[in-house]
Amino acid sequence: MEHEHVRDVDPAVADALEGEVDRQRETLQMIASENHVSQAVIDAQGSALTNKYAEGYPGSRYYGGCEYADEVEQLAIDRATELFGAEHVNVQPHSGTQANQAVYFAMLEPGDKILSLDLNHGGHLSHGHPANFVGQLYEVEQYEVDAETGYLDYEGLAEHAEEFEPDIIVSGYSAYPREIEWERIQEAADSVGALHLADIAHITGLVAAGVHPSPVGTADFVTGSTHKTIRSGRGGIVMCDEEYADDIDAAVFPGGQGGPLMHNIAGKAVGFKEALEPEFEDYAEQTVANAKALGERLAENGFSLVSEGTDNHLVLVDLRESHPDTSGGDAEEALEEAGIVLNGNTVPGETRSPFDPSGIRAGTPALTTRGFDEEDCRKVGDLITRVVDAPEDEAVLEEVREEVATLCDANPLYE
Ligand SMILES: *Cc1c(COP(=O)(O)O)cnc(C)c1O
Repeated sequence: MEHEHVRDVDPAVADALEGEVDRQRETLQMIASENHVSQAVIDAQGSALTNKYAEGYPGSRYYGGCEYADEVEQLAIDRATELFGAEHVNVQPHSGTQANQAVYFAMLEPGDKILSLDLNHGGHLSHGHPANFVGQLYEVEQYEVDAETGYLDYEGLAEHAEEFEPDIIVSGYSAYPREIEWERIQEAADSVGALHLADIAHITGLVAAGVHPSPVGTADFVTGSTHKTIRSGRGGIVMCDEEYADDIDAAVFPGGQGGPLMHNIAGKAVGFKEALEPEFEDYAEQTVANAKALGERLAENGFSLVSEGTDNHLVLVDLRESHPDTSGGDAEEALEEAGIVLNGNTVPGETRSPFDPSGIRAGTPALTTRGFDEEDCRKVGDLITRVVDAPEDEAVLEEVREEVATLCDANPLYE
């Protein structure tokens, strides 16, 4: 991937851009929320649409010259509608966080109540953490996963809802490896007259491919990211029934944003088209098969997995029993030195801190995009084991780094 025009103007940035491409090519990207978009999506995002102001929506803009912006946004909307089957889709949110904020802004008054999953248990900052304005503007309480099993405690959630009487219940998570039973959360919401926001940020691609059950048609609102398991470039999306369409559109623009990032919306349109192809279903299935293979191998090697496995694209490892002297942060650092990039992560019943948590989270979306299969992922499981068993052994890190390079060479990226 050449950046010759950037290089002419700004060699320092060109060096960093090329360094980043090489980093992605030569190391394993296992941060569960990351992926590699196609060159087509990159080209669409790096297009002249970045110049265009298109405040408003297709056919109803505040600026002239929007005929191509309209075409691109309508294509993104139509394809998302076909992928997810929602009555109404808004493709303008700049991110998943802003998609969630649009729903809160449309439906809640300051001081209203949000019930969402604890961050340590796999929730997200945008679900009402005190560090996010959502946590300050609304009254937030949090539900938890079952401490024993690591599975969502649907009954506990329903009881909590009865006590707290939230205005909205948020489901959908950042570090939850199991299938989410949307209907059970919907029932809890219905029984207390709450709305239900299903945030599928991590599993947008798995839902689009039918590999994870869809909350569309069940939950009142569905939000997602467009750059995680679906490879449509950085951004967000909101879906809802027609009855909420005008409120949601007004909450995205002008409620929370100005001009839409039309170049990113072009990336979404292209990525959604790719996701409508039959190959995308194979990709999503392989992503899950790879995560299962990775998890099984880690468990065979003595690691303890939250919920003892996975139904989706990620595994969450609790290091406390198997490696009491190694924190998630220590493991993350040693693995990165060995060419395996993932993140330390809090686990249910966390006893350390979010800055140096007790677990690691590993995902297979990016590895699968570059062609890894189950056998490769079992190898990766063995490599992770060697590093976490000896995080300070430079010789081990060097050996693993070489094996990572071999795996990367066999599965090239951005040729
Ligand atoms: C990643 C994520 C988001 C959105 O993140 P952005 O970085 O703002 O796109 C929202 N909710 C959950 C549960 C997530 O994991």
